[in-house]
Amino acid sequence: MNKPVLLTVDDDPGVSRAVARDLRRRYGEGHRVVRASSGQEAIEALKELKLRGEQVAAMLADYRMPEMNGIEFLEQAMDLFPRARRALLTAYADTDAAIQAINLVDVDHYLLKPWDPPEEKLYPVVDALIETWRASGESAVDEIKIVGHRWSAPTFAARDFLARNAVPYRYYSIDDPEGRRLLDAAAADPAEIPVVITTDGRPLLAPSDAEIAAAVGLTVDPATDFYDLIVVGGGPAGLGSAVYGASEGLRTVLVERQAAGGQAGQSSRIENYLGFPDGVSGSQLTDRARRQAVKFGAEMLTARDVVALEVQGSARVVRFGDGSTIAAHAVILATGVSYRSLTAPGCHELTGRGVYYGSANTEAPECAGTDVYIVGGANSAGQAAVFFSRHAKSVTLVVRGESLHTSMSHYLIQQLDAIDNVHVLTGTTIGQACGDEHLESLRLDHSDGSTEFVDTGHLFIFIGAQPQTGWLDGVVLRDERGFVWTGPDLLTDGQRPPGWTLDRDPFYLESSVPGVFVAGDVRAQSVKRVASAVGEGAMAVTLVHRYLEEQ
Ligand SMILES: Cc1cc2nc3c(=O)[nH]c(=O)nc-3n(C[C@H](O)[C@H](O)[C@H](O)COP(=O)(O)OP(=O)(O)OC[C@H]3O[C@@H](n4cnc5c(N)ncnc54)[C@H](O)[C@@H]3O)c2cc1C
Repeated sequence: MNKPVLLTVDDDPGVSRAVARDLRRRYGEGHRVVRASSGQEAIEALKELKLRGEQVAAMLADYRMPEMNGIEFLEQAMDLFPRARRALLTAYADTDAAIQAINLVDVDHYLLKPWDPPEEKLYPVVDALIETWRASGESAVDEIKIVGHRWSAPTFAARDFLARNAVPYRYYSIDDPEGRRLLDAAAADPAEIPVVITTDGRPLLAPSDAEIAAAVGLTVDPATDFYDLIVVGGGPAGLGSAVYGASEGLRTVLVERQAAGGQAGQSSRIENYLGFPDGVSGSQLTDRARRQAVKFGAEMLTARDVVALEVQGSARVVRFGDGSTIAAHAVILATGVSYRSLTAPGCHELTGRGVYYGSANTEAPECAGTDVYIVGGANSAGQAAVFFSRHAKSVTLVVRGESLHTSMSHYLIQQLDAIDNVHVLTGTTIGQACGDEHLESLRLDHSDGSTEFVDTGHLFIFIGAQPQTGWLDGVVLRDERGFVWTGPDLLTDGQRPPGWTLDRDPFYLESSVPGVFVAGDVRAQSVKRVASAVGEGAMAVTLVHRYLEEQ
């Protein structure tokens, strides 16, 4: 096992040497000290450490560095090693900036230069950083193991669940000796895969998402039974609601059925979100938003499916799949949309075994050097094509329409045009998915009536999204496709919706039930974008305050 790393970044070679020397003297035996002379160099070093699977315990960065200052560096470094603890080295004159960094970008400590004697000024701080890092359990989380098979749909689902929740794991195939040894040790049968082995060596045979979540330390049970605000759904709209709700003092719980991030969490690169000129991956954006929500005190429940919403006097009650409930003064519905299923013969049977919905990141390594097919003509399909072009031999985008121009952003069409191994097949649909154990080929149906068979082991589906709001039947008013009506859209000839009890019209994002608000893609007539989902999440919280003032 490699020693955990202590990383120091300072553009002044003298200072840099001195920090590294002092760190080695005290921590050299149990840690590896790595030093860099600029933020960029340090980021490159962190990337290498990440690829090699090493752990970083703490990072000490000088505040005043040209090009990338210490705060900017620590912010970027957090995306690579979120659990590594962080300290800023400052001169006396920069104390204010350092204090602000503690508040704003989650820096654990700041250290005034010079720190002589280190025994008094440097080591106590670094001791605290290392201790906090150890308590975060990074080394332990590293050793979660999944034993399964490449073509087992439940194995794929378990891996995908952990990946989307940013939980690291090691995968072992039952085709390999070590995988078989683990299966034997767990006294499991190949029919019981996946076997998830927790850090303390406990095997879970074919576990549910909720069982996996609990075993790996994700929160699944609410801390109490009554809140100010329950947010249902952990996509951008739900995360936005949780951040604003909790930061504005509402006792807030967010309930997510699979993994925070929603659709956006599956995006390989979001290029049009304000403030990220170079784009940001969905998982990075999600990780930041989740940490932000938790920092403000929001509770985040994972792997909990909400199956009913009930009105009990002034309380709004949310029921989980296992029958238990929590209640609140107000609820924000942010359940977004899911991909429509592809109904071509074979697709259902081969889902998770070559046919996938979204899930770009989990499968990417398996696509190296292969021919990949992607169905869909919207931005999500375009982004996936760009992403897979870096891994696969070729990527073919299968589009039903005659052109991409009506369904995809111009910048993405241009990107696709410029990539040699991406081909776009317009006027084409998937006729059949063929294969026994896993996907082996596809029948493509062209609009001129011709068909062809192509060999492939990977089909990724990104077609038309629909809300899953059947559980809201008879509770809130929805349109014919299941999107939830809100605000002015609820008024018919100036009349308020049936059952409306208040002496005012519904607020802009309020549903036909007072105190139940709706944000993001699930809202009827909403703009389907990350920015608007986040914005509606924030706005819904303001309206919740207004509603609570009336109570
Ligand atoms: C691959 C991809 C790429 C995209 N790229 C871009 C882009 O570049 N720019 C852009 O602006 N937009 C992009 N979009 C669209 C954008 O991601 C969505 O508009 C946005 O995610 C909507 O956010 P939301 O919170 O409303 O819903 P969602 O993101 O759909 O999140 C809803 C969440 O609610 C959870 N949920 C649903 N029902 C329940 C329930 N009953 N109980 C508990 N939890 C539940 C779901 O599991 C999900 O996590 C992309 C979409 C995809 C799929």
